[in-house]
Amino acid sequence: MEPELEHTLHRTPSWSSLGGLEHQEVSFLEQGDSTSWPSPAMPTSPERSHGKERAKAPRWTRQEAMEERELQGLGEGEALFPRLGWDDELQKPGAQVYMHFMQEHTCYDAMATSSKLVIFDTTLEIKKAFFALVANGIRAAPLWDSKKQSFVGMLTITDFILVLHRYYRSPLVQIYEIEEHKIETWREIYLQGCFKPLVSISPNNSLFEAVYSLIKNRIHRLPVLDPVSGAVLHILTHKRLLKFLHIFGALLPQPSFLSRTIQDLGIGTFRDLAVVLDTAPILTALDIFVDRRVSALPVVNEAGQVVGLYSRFDVIHLAAQQTYNHLDVSVGEALKQRTLCLEGVLSCQPHESLGEVIDRIAREQVHRLVLVDDSQHLLGVVSLSDILQALVLSPAGIDALSA
Ligand code: ADP
Ligand code: ADP
Ligand code: AMP
Repeated sequence: MEPELEHTLHRTPSWSSLGGLEHQEVSFLEQGDSTSWPSPAMPTSPERSHGKERAKAPRWTRQEAMEERELQGLGEGEALFPRLGWDDELQKPGAQVYMHFMQEHTCYDAMATSSKLVIFDTTLEIKKAFFALVANGIRAAPLWDSKKQSFVGMLTITDFILVLHRYYRSPLVQIYEIEEHKIETWREIYLQGCFKPLVSISPNNSLFEAVYSLIKNRIHRLPVLDPVSGAVLHILTHKRLLKFLHIFGALLPQPSFLSRTIQDLGIGTFRDLAVVLDTAPILTALDIFVDRRVSALPVVNEAGQVVGLYSRFDVIHLAAQQTYNHLDVSVGEALKQRTLCLEGVLSCQPHESLGEVIDRIAREQVHRLVLVDDSQHLLGVVSLSDILQALVLSPAGIDALSA
């Protein structure tokens, strides 16, 4: 399937009406599958702060938006981004085009023809497991229970966060549980006997079902299991599914909602945003990840401007650099110390069209864009979950995101 994807990509236009994207699309493909770590040598993109560099469409500031909210007597997020535009769009012919496309294609279609798959036995020590994620350049691994002779779960970076959150005491106290516990010990303690089965999918299931399962179960890794042998064939992610839809969706008739603005459509989260101050310790960021279950935190300065993005993925650097005993370091400092990541924030602005936002998020291979105003103040988060929910599930009348 991968060469087929590549072939298609070279000859299809992007979704947005912006010119000159074609070569960038090619480089997006050349970066390879999203399961690999960003290369330390990867050049820093001058486009990291897109919002600032774009030709200015009608100005729309936080101040104006707040005034509008006060006039309407609504909650902040609700007034800034009413979903009325989206509800209108769903009534129009062609609004279901991506829903049908994902219903008609199977998980098999979106799988790579070959890729590395690392599996952990549950008797592996957790420290070794997290180091193995780093060493293999992967974000997650299926867990094999040799007593049960079956896959029982996934080990992800969120689990690393949960372990640190539970056992970290201070920089002076070694986290002996990380050194000594096996994965199965951790799971027994954390799950406390409550049975939480592996969420998986068959290659014969539709991509629509895959999107539903990822969003409904609030997970980011969906293993595709061979129905006969039970073997893991691939791990589907939101990024992979959007990449598939982005490439092949360009061949479909374009629904009118792609040219409507984020502000009109209200796609994303605009209220109760989980953020972290750049001066706060990493421990605070971990507390927020655990309490709010969000995948990333916009990093803001004291003036409320977005100065970075700290994602769950970034926490694995604590394992890579063996600094997980130093959670008193500030988030701002941790962002500077990241050796494997690009600088800056990938953002979008309310006046940008949904098509442009999708093109950017697919090209940059990130899980979300931060929505900011002209002065970099935070307005919201537009995540792959929001986009897939809107494009694929909402046209079917399903709201898996807020269920
Ligand atoms: P991350 O964003 O760090 O990759 P996820 O959101 O996928 O993590 O995982 C959240 C939690 O759900 C973790 O504790 C992880 O072990 C668990 N989990 C992830 N994928 C699955 C799955 N397919 N089946 C069961 N549990 C899962
Ligand atoms: P995952 O593949 O685990 O979902 P993420 O997309 O959350 O990974 O993060 C991968 C890397 O990209 C991290 O270093 C993260 O900080 C960075 N990143 C993700 N989203 C943004 C963004 N909007 N702006 C800047 N960096 C981002
Ligand atoms: P994700 O975990 O990124 O796939 O997103 C799941 C939902 O959480 C989406 O509706 C996002 O818009 C929302 N979300 C993501 N990050 C944040 C955040 N920092 N604060 C509030 N909501 C968020």
